[in-house]
Amino acid sequence: MTYVITDPCIGTKDRSCVDVCPVDCIHDDGDEDQILYIDPDECIDCGACEPECPVNAIFPEDSLPTESAAFTELNARWFKDKASARASVDQLKPPA
Ligand code: SF4
Repeated sequence: MTYVITDPCIGTKDRSCVDVCPVDCIHDDGDEDQILYIDPDECIDCGACEPECPVNAIFPEDSLPTESAAFTELNARWFKDKASARASVDQLKPPA
């Protein structure tokens, strides 16, 4: 399993989750990304990130809200094709 970052993170990127992740599997490329991404191959399902998020954007994969289901694939995609993942996020919420 993995944890997944969802749409409330778009434009927020508080980064508190990054500070507590014991395996450093939460990433972005600074200003190029509007949202943070969890690497599903590295996440150890510890749950430390979830309560740290001030906008409740992080969920275990098996407890994702229905409307956020696409974010499981989107988090994983960024680690294989950043441009594609960014385009999808920008479509959901155009950069300010
Ligand atoms: Fe990192 Fe644990 Fe959150 Fe996975 S569940 S992203 S390992 S803090």
